[in-house]
Amino acid sequence: MSKDFPQTRAEPKAWVARSAKQPMVLETVAPGPLGAEEVEIAVEHCGLCHSDLSVLNNDWGISQYPAILGHEAIGRITAAGPNARGLKVGQRVGVGWNAGSCMHCHQCMSGSHHLCPQVQPTIVGHRGGFASHLRSHWAWAIPLPDQLNFAEAGPLLCGGITVFAPLALHARPTDRVGIIGIGGLGHMAVKFAAAYGCDVTAFTSSESKFEEAKGFGAHHVVSSRDAAGLKKLAGSFDLLISTVNVKLDWDAWINTLAPHGRLHVVGAVLEPIPVAAFSLIMQQRSVSGSPTGSPVGIETMLEFAARHEVVPQTEHFPMSKINEAFARLESGQARYRIVLDADF
Ligand SMILES: [Zn+2]
Ligand SMILES: [Zn+2]
Repeated sequence: MSKDFPQTRAEPKAWVARSAKQPMVLETVAPGPLGAEEVEIAVEHCGLCHSDLSVLNNDWGISQYPAILGHEAIGRITAAGPNARGLKVGQRVGVGWNAGSCMHCHQCMSGSHHLCPQVQPTIVGHRGGFASHLRSHWAWAIPLPDQLNFAEAGPLLCGGITVFAPLALHARPTDRVGIIGIGGLGHMAVKFAAAYGCDVTAFTSSESKFEEAKGFGAHHVVSSRDAAGLKKLAGSFDLLISTVNVKLDWDAWINTLAPHGRLHVVGAVLEPIPVAAFSLIMQQRSVSGSPTGSPVGIETMLEFAARHEVVPQTEHFPMSKINEAFARLESGQARYRIVLDADF
């Protein structure tokens, strides 16, 4: 390009974590050539998920620095590699926890791309969405339904699919479903389960959330600290989804499961979950877990969310206040999910 002409777009910028537990700093990022299968997306909004904080702090020992976090990104496609399929420049898409997979292994070929052994997390060894631009494999840039509220949709891309997937896999509309923990994940789980038609019980340790949980669609709200109350619910639930990342009295929770009931874990608790074999065997109960979902799973979830008006309850920060936003998340005060609006 002649230097007589201005550049068509500014240099890409990103909020960069240089090392663990340090504030992020704004830097110009050299993007390098776009991969043949990649698309580039100009970020408009990006949700802040607890996993961003875990990776910033290297809680899981997998972080790679410098890191660009953010994996609930919403934006428009600005460029597409020659082999990118099904997407147009200008189209609005979302990118969640994963930004690529091998596309030829057994899992990818059977529709479980999120279980691919080479799946590429968006924020580990890859540049995430707290940036002016991010890139992903075309298959992982999920087109957004027109009816979706784009400014609020970011949290659906990771948190939303994480709680929707177990409902889609394991729940029937006639089921009694319990959601443990009413936070970023849990409040979306309540909304999805209610929209699905289930009888929904919200469990929270915070009485200040009781009324809001009912507003999200919970039919019942129970204090998760009320051991006697839990005991009364013995044999009740077809599906319990745990969204918390702290140790629970697992036996007490499994005891609330109905015959055939399932405790499904999506909160990344680091301590092992001890389970008595007999509590599973005699009532034919299960304990299971799952990570986010496949591209088609995410697309299906977004269509469901648009149709049933499942909208995360958010607090917005300009992206330039990213460090304040992380502090707010860490304080546990956010109601219920933080979204950063790009302001580069
Ligand atoms: Zn694969
Ligand atoms: Zn996440």
